[in-house]
Parts: sequence; C-alpha cells; structure tokens
Amino acid sequence: MNTEIKQGGCQCGQVTYELSGAPVALYRCHCTECQTASGAAFGMSMWVRVEDFKLTSGVLKTYVRVADSGGQVESSFCEYCGVRIYTQALRLESGYLVLKPGTLSKSDNLKPSADIWLSSKQNWFEPPEDTRHFDGQPLLEALFESHQESGSTVGD
Ligand SMILES: [Zn+2]
Ligand SMILES: [Zn+2]
Repeated sequence: MNTEIKQGGCQCGQVTYELSGAPVALYRCHCTECQTASGAAFGMSMWVRVEDFKLTSGVLKTYVRVADSGGQVESSFCEYCGVRIYTQALRLESGYLVLKPGTLSKSDNLKPSADIWLSSKQNWFEPPEDTRHFDGQPLLEALFESHQESGSTVGD
C-alpha cells in the first residue's frame, strides 16, 4: 500500500489538503450532473477514506443536491475560486470521500479503471478497452474491484 502523502488544493491556492493512503476507486463518470459540475465532457472521481483526507488550509463551502436516487450529495468547494475538492453522499455513511483528483498537485498519472454512465457520454468519446464499462451506476463494490485489478480487465 502506498502511504506517501500527496498534496492538493484549489486554483486560487487558499484551500490546500493532504492525502495519505491509497485511493480505493478511480473512474470517469459521464453522467450529465458530472458534465455540468465539471464544465467538461466527463467528471473524474477518486474514492479515498475520510481519515486519509486532511484539510490543511482554507475554507470549504458546501452545496447539496438531490440525486436521481433521492439521496443527497454534498459538494465541498473553495469559497473564493469555486473549485470543487470533493463530494460525499450524505445518506450513505460509507466512510469515503469522492475526491476530484484533478486538484492533486501531481495529477499526471490518474488512470481510471472504469467508465460509468456511458448512456449519457459525449458522442465522440470511446471508452478505452482497459476500463470496465457501465451504462449507468454500478455497485460500489464493482468500482472498488475494478480499481484493485488496476485496469487489467477488458470491457464488461
Ligand atoms: Zn480557491
Ligand atoms: Zn457523474
């Protein structure tokens, strides 16, 4: 297990954090909420243990939205520049945060192991063969499993 401490933060630099421990899932999400939230073609989500995340400076503001499932999802973002740092499902006390991995200082090796919500992906996007593919929301276990196999599985 990789116990190296990683640094990250928002765009204006007021919010900084440290991440210890290894992530348990890393995937691309093509749902329309992630497209809107990221302002991009897809969102990236990295599940980390709550105890592995430490806010080291700045103030996080929160925004709660109701998901299609009826559950509430809380986003935490820098109050100045608005960059999202993580989201968390409020009902699901899973002990995990869903970090926005592009906020890591060193973000050159964020290789997703799954593509989810492919039913609403951009037309031009072709999911690579070395990720697991899901049309909608998979079970959490499936995402954790595909991460453990670290992209070695082909399709599904
Ligand atoms: Zn900021
Ligand atoms: Zn999504």
